[in-house]
Amino acid sequence: MKETVSKEQRLAVEAFKKRRDENEPKMIDSSSLPAGTAMCYYCKHCYALTTKISESDFTTEIKDCCGECKAMKEKGWLK
Ligand SMILES: [Zn+2]
Repeated sequence: MKETVSKEQRLAVEAFKKRRDENEPKMIDSSSLPAGTAMCYYCKHCYALTTKISESDFTTEIKDCCGECKAMKEKGWLK
């Protein structure tokens, strides 16, 4: 079997893991914040902040996946 993982994919996965490790400690649990504080939503893959909305904002679309992870997912690089 030949190597099926391209260099591009390998670099993208490495960058993803680095991003995830850096983002995870920065996550804020919105439920621990006082009422009225903007709610933060994070990428479910790399924990990057994707959406920040105030309590009275019901129009902003909440993203559960950041652009970079979405691109990786579309290529089948993210499981
Ligand atoms: Zn992400």
